[in-house]
Amino acid sequence: MTESGRIELMAPAGGWEALQAALDNGADSVYFGVDQLNMRARATMNFTLGDLEEIAQRCSDKGVRTYLTLNTIIYDHDLSVLKRVIDAVQESGITAIIAADQAAINYAHSRGVEVHISTQLNITNVETIKFYSHFADVMVLSRELSLRQIRHICDSVKKDQITGPSGDLIEIEVFGHGALCMAVSGKCYLSLHTTNSSANRGACVQNCRRKYKVIDLEDGHELEIDNEYIMSPKDLCTIDFLDQLIDSGTKVLKVEGRGKAPEYVATVIKAYREAIDAYYEGNYTKERVEEWMTQLRTVYNRDFWGGYLLGQKLGEWTDSSGSKAVQKKVFLGRGVHYYKKPQIAEFKIEAQKLQVGDRILVTGPTTGVFESVVTEMMVDDQKSDIAKRGQSCTIPLENIIRSSDKLYKIVDAE
Ligand code: SF4
Repeated sequence: MTESGRIELMAPAGGWEALQAALDNGADSVYFGVDQLNMRARATMNFTLGDLEEIAQRCSDKGVRTYLTLNTIIYDHDLSVLKRVIDAVQESGITAIIAADQAAINYAHSRGVEVHISTQLNITNVETIKFYSHFADVMVLSRELSLRQIRHICDSVKKDQITGPSGDLIEIEVFGHGALCMAVSGKCYLSLHTTNSSANRGACVQNCRRKYKVIDLEDGHELEIDNEYIMSPKDLCTIDFLDQLIDSGTKVLKVEGRGKAPEYVATVIKAYREAIDAYYEGNYTKERVEEWMTQLRTVYNRDFWGGYLLGQKLGEWTDSSGSKAVQKKVFLGRGVHYYKKPQIAEFKIEAQKLQVGDRILVTGPTTGVFESVVTEMMVDDQKSDIAKRGQSCTIPLENIIRSSDKLYKIVDAE
């Protein structure tokens, strides 16, 4: 929960670009992994222990809390690394760890590091909350609970005055947006079974996202079930019933997506920031929900449903692989220089072409992510409508760009 008493909006950060996107778009907290003992071990970008201080600094400057995920299964040979990571969390000023294994919970607790219980532990009842309250102040509930069950747990925390090590009431955290597993959270062995690559060690190969046939072994008949990807759920989206979610007593709303692009983080966090604020300010309306849904559909999604929160018993499945986003980005080039006074950005075009009128997206580790439209352009000191591959061009831009930035064009997805 935030200091103002509003539900806390927690953003995923798979790298510096996404972290900055979360900070710029209204996240109250961010969660991320380092390259060890991390449930997104296969992600292209993870932070290192050496990055923790800068993460803590960048976030605390904006009053944003920082949570390091340490929620894999832990073996004996991991224990020294585990302790090193928790010690680094303490020294760098990261707010808390998100843990599932008792070794991580116990060691962090003994070192005075705040602990949040991961959804990997599948908390589904208030007695389990009481058990973990000896160690943790925040607990993520199982993703398969309904709002009615969540409300019961939140009410019981209040009624029974269940407090964590901080002395404050336990805060309940719920997944609010993003990809869902077809298996009950944290209990999937598909990837381990087929490729010896354990989802519970952060190395899921996502077998569930593929298309399958069901074969009757007696007569050999093959069934394709309603053309659906029968193990790949649509993505969770709660923006259209966020009022009910907040009213359940949930204190933290988590957005999934540490493997997703920075513009995903920017768009989703911006939409939920506006929706949360609208709820507290009394202007959470159907019309605005429609606008937010339209925005959410522009970035990666497998179509949306409300998960099990509204009492739905059966899952809803995607009918295609990959994203249903209505737009996509196309790589064009990189930043070269920013001329501060005239607010002019110079880019080198490395692929495709840039034209006046194009919608562009710029991403970078310090820049984060922003969009703009090319209103005019210079190539070789001459006004031009187009910059081709190999050419440098300058365009007016209010946002500072850097040489570490990438330039994309936003186009409609086919
Ligand atoms: S295979 Fe699918 S259901 Fe299983 S852990 Fe991976 S993403 Fe989740």
